[in-house]
Amino acid sequence: DSETKHCEGCGIALQTEDPDQAGYIPEQALTREVVLCKRCFRIRHYGEMAKVEQDPDAYLHRLDEIARSEGFVVWVVDLFDFAGSWIPGLARRIGNLPVLIAANKVDLFPPSVKRERLRGWIFQSAKKLGIRPVDVVLISAEVGIGIRQVMEAIEFYRDHRDVYMIGTTNVGKSTLINQILKKAKLTEKEIITTSPYPGTTLDAIRIPLEDRKFLVDTPGIVREDRVSEWVEPGELKSVIPHKTIKPRVYQLNDQQTLFFGGLVRFDFVRGNRQSFVCYLSNQLYIHRTKLEKADEVWDKHRGKLLSPPKRPDNLPPLKKHVIHLKGEKKTDIVIPGLGWVACGKNAVWVEVYAPEGTGVSTRPSII
Ligand code: GDP
Repeated sequence: DSETKHCEGCGIALQTEDPDQAGYIPEQALTREVVLCKRCFRIRHYGEMAKVEQDPDAYLHRLDEIARSEGFVVWVVDLFDFAGSWIPGLARRIGNLPVLIAANKVDLFPPSVKRERLRGWIFQSAKKLGIRPVDVVLISAEVGIGIRQVMEAIEFYRDHRDVYMIGTTNVGKSTLINQILKKAKLTEKEIITTSPYPGTTLDAIRIPLEDRKFLVDTPGIVREDRVSEWVEPGELKSVIPHKTIKPRVYQLNDQQTLFFGGLVRFDFVRGNRQSFVCYLSNQLYIHRTKLEKADEVWDKHRGKLLSPPKRPDNLPPLKKHVIHLKGEKKTDIVIPGLGWVACGKNAVWVEVYAPEGTGVSTRPSII
């Protein structure tokens, strides 16, 4: 059809019907001077490579392809956001393949936190979700800790298979790939950027291994149940931690509230005076107030004093999560994409308000 327009970024045939399908462009954007599909528009807008899988079906399809290929899987997780690192459908789709977990961002934990304990916790957590990793290697892709160990572990376990690197967005997969490329001393020509999946325009980086096999990077998987999804790229740095976390301790009486920027509200409704330890990005502003004043403070200051987000109107409404802890053991209240609040051995009633769709949960304390 000569009428069909094509994206000037990737060449795909454009369509205005289904925003979730490849090649989508809003009708009114067709008259622009440069016509780009939604994905290419995003890439230009954010100025980065097509490293994100937007379409849930496409990534499930990709997991199936990996399963069929009988590859070796390196699953990159964020130690600071394990809940947000989980890939829905992972166990069901690739549970039979060998999986190595590269547990990233270990530098965020103070040295007092025992590394073996973190490793054990990741082993256990993965197992509960149906993945039995061949090994868990703690790394910091950014600082350059454990890169050599990951590469050695891959060679040790992969048994002449192709290697597929998978992970949700923001776990540090790109940073790790770049570290591996540096260590492997490959020239750009040796790295192949291809579109191995027909019908998609996503690039996958393929790094040649010694036995004519490849290490294949796959686009990051978006998880919409993380608070970080609601933050604009420029604001991410105050939400996603970069430096070793300095836990912030709040001694609260009941009927007091903490605001985590303008993203989450934490009400201590009932219980004895006790401490709550916040493991959040050091840059995230925490505001403390009385519960009875909380609504007013929120309405007045959200988007200003209480930020990010600078533009709260773009967020879904807050949803309340009621949490009763019996106080039998120390518990973390986990807010995916943000961090967690550690509670002690006290009975406590807490209400957490987070953007609708956020997967707020609890777990036995990890620190
Ligand atoms: P991807 O979406 O999984 O490819 O993640 P990126 O590689 O783009 O990293 C996401 C964010 O996490 C970036 O802001 C990185 O600077 C940061 N990051 C990546 N690796 C580490 C790490 O080992 N430690 C810390 N503290 N931050 C990291």
